[in-house]
Amino acid sequence: MNIILLGPPGAGKGTQAQKLVDSRNMIQLSTGDMLREAKTSGTEMGKMVAAVMDRGDLVTDEIVIGLIREKLEAGGATGGFIFDGFPRTLAQADALGDLLTEMGQTLDDVVELQVNDEVLVERILGRAAEAVAAGGTARADDNEESLKTRLMAYYKQTSPLIGYYYAKGQLQSVDGLDTMDGVASSISDVLS
Ligand code: AMP
Repeated sequence: MNIILLGPPGAGKGTQAQKLVDSRNMIQLSTGDMLREAKTSGTEMGKMVAAVMDRGDLVTDEIVIGLIREKLEAGGATGGFIFDGFPRTLAQADALGDLLTEMGQTLDDVVELQVNDEVLVERILGRAAEAVAAGGTARADDNEESLKTRLMAYYKQTSPLIGYYYAKGQLQSVDGLDTMDGVASSISDVLS
């Protein structure tokens, strides 16, 4: 089973993906994690995307599609893939469809986590404050300025995917404002 978790920054995609990894033996493919890793390890690509990411803008389709292609080709997903933070544009959605078809696989469900903007801002700024309180550093893009850019990128570039997958009959929406376990159980209920 291959699924997409769709939703704005702070909606809980990463948390819910982790729960699915634990409960269903699936593999989480987070383009955000892959890009942060490239940034930290200082690869050429990492250097190229650093400023764009810190600002909260989207990196190019070419880069993220390349990352996903590599992971899919490496295979090894017993329980299937969870796409977390990918696709984020219509071009990425088309590319994912093509990649899966090439590999003889299907996309089974797209789960939209519905939340409201006020909660997102609270969660993300809370996440940054917690990281600092724990003696660590907050994500470079977990600040008010970048958050505005990230939200705008979501509404302008990613939210059209809701209509795209609805039209394909693949969209499932769940209330992302429930408790973590509550959201996890709603996700389980809608998965085909
Ligand atoms: P995330 O951890 O999913 O919030 O992603 C962090 C940042 O990585 C985003 O704000 C973008 O700059 C970049 N990013 C992650 N996934 C994508 C994607 N699918 N397309 C473009 N940029 C992405």
